[in-house]
Amino acid sequence: MTVLHGKGASGGIAIGVVKIQFGNETCIKRAHIENAEAEIERFRLAKERSLTELKELYEKALGEVGEANARIFEIHQMMTDDEDYTEAIENLILSQQVNAEYAVGVTSDNFAEMFSSMDDDYMKERAADVCDISSRLIKNLSGSVAKASLLPENAIIFAKDLTPSETVQLDKDKIIGFCTQQGSKNSHTSILARTMGVPAVCATETELPPEFDGAEAIIDGSFGTVYINPTPDIREKMIVRQNEEIRRKELLQNLKGKENITQNGQKINLYANIGGPSDLGEVLANDAGGIGLFRSEFLYLESDDYPGEEAQFQCYKKVLECMHGKKVIVRTLDIGADKQIDYFHLDNEENPALGYRAIRICLTRTDIFKTQLRALYRASVYGNLGIMFPMIISEEEISEIKEIILQVKSELANAGIPFNPDTEIGIMIETPASVMISDILAKEVDFFSIGTNDLTQYTLAADRQNPKLDAFCDPHHKAILRMIKIAVDNAHKNGAWVGICGELAADTSLTELFLAMGVDELSVSPASILPLREKIRHTSVKDRREIINKFL
Ligand code: PEP
Ligand code: MG
Repeated sequence: MTVLHGKGASGGIAIGVVKIQFGNETCIKRAHIENAEAEIERFRLAKERSLTELKELYEKALGEVGEANARIFEIHQMMTDDEDYTEAIENLILSQQVNAEYAVGVTSDNFAEMFSSMDDDYMKERAADVCDISSRLIKNLSGSVAKASLLPENAIIFAKDLTPSETVQLDKDKIIGFCTQQGSKNSHTSILARTMGVPAVCATETELPPEFDGAEAIIDGSFGTVYINPTPDIREKMIVRQNEEIRRKELLQNLKGKENITQNGQKINLYANIGGPSDLGEVLANDAGGIGLFRSEFLYLESDDYPGEEAQFQCYKKVLECMHGKKVIVRTLDIGADKQIDYFHLDNEENPALGYRAIRICLTRTDIFKTQLRALYRASVYGNLGIMFPMIISEEEISEIKEIILQVKSELANAGIPFNPDTEIGIMIETPASVMISDILAKEVDFFSIGTNDLTQYTLAADRQNPKLDAFCDPHHKAILRMIKIAVDNAHKNGAWVGICGELAADTSLTELFLAMGVDELSVSPASILPLREKIRHTSVKDRREIINKFL
């Protein structure tokens, strides 16, 4: 058994199969595509290229090693051109709106499995050939010579580090855990793991040798431990713990449909943070009262090109409809810093977290911003939408945003496209500047949402990505708690409601304080909703001043 120690980034136990993300291996990404016809055309071109290559290989082999040995390339040509195989790929592209690489990968797996299960030895051998022709097709599609592979079922991803764009493009249906050598608890990949509700361990500082690929692994995300090839004893213990967790989750199910109300009758909204429609199942299963943070940049991260207005509209509409009139707060594009997207062609920066990111990009590349706002306002008639803007530092930014919103609304009105003119707008309070002028900003918006992840890094001058700074990055620091108090008071004095959507919102050791401050809403990963409801229902907030003084 090999044991790795790191930091627990997302709690829980997962028992599955090691999938190492090698530097020279590209795991086939599943990407949503908008134009299936164009994708099929791209696949056909790659197929033509493969057929030409195989023909050339056949001719070369014929001259060098004779007909019998060259025949394999003829068989590969026939298989590449096989009607059932190509039809299966094209049908997948069309029916699931997925990229061709992914469709080839899935079809390859299906066909290989079918051949392997045949009795005939000759047919059994064809399984390897299917993999071979599929790799050629994928190479010709992606232009990459790297070995491409699909994820196994119950995959636990082991990687040096994962960027948010890499993480988001993995086939989430197959992933049950993450383990990274680097990374920090507050990086977006850890946040994503928590949103997906899968255990994760980061900062193990140990590279896993390739021979472990495919081995059994157990991730203990609560204690930050990873076991590879676990002994029967450890396995047994972990299964016991896993069952306990399942039982606890089942008990929490009793809280579904119950109010988020304290012993002394104070109510608070409990909303969920999501990255996209694929998280809606978890949102509903955990009985969220709404969505307090839809990180819309994940739509862009999942895509190979700027998502168009129609695709975004469909996505927001789906989320709003699924929430049946409950509040859905979509945060506009927040890229930059650790969330890099190739097609944005952002320059390398010395200090990207302090750089050209989030609203700064939107206010300078207004074409991108307007596309998103048009999609959002079009979707606004399908539910209870709120739009919020990240990384705000000034009143002027809000004026510019409002100016662009006016343009969008008037364009929609002129085109006769319905929208809700009263859609609430809010800002994220995640910079010290926004806290210090929160009295001014609150007059301009309907709500604040306090982003404690960035607020912590900017207030404590400690990069949230850097695991070495964990000891210096105390989110319970009085400076942070006082900042939250200032923002909450200023919001309320100036007619805005206020929520917290950073990771601190789920910290049950602070629930009493947030209630005492009068925070209106807490937005957390779906799996944290019921534990937080339980905490609220056991809390009594009698003397607010006393509680606040205790913490601040
Ligand atoms: C935050 O900064 O607290 C926040 C919620 O936004 P993100 O984590 O996406 O930066
Ligand atoms: Mg933030």
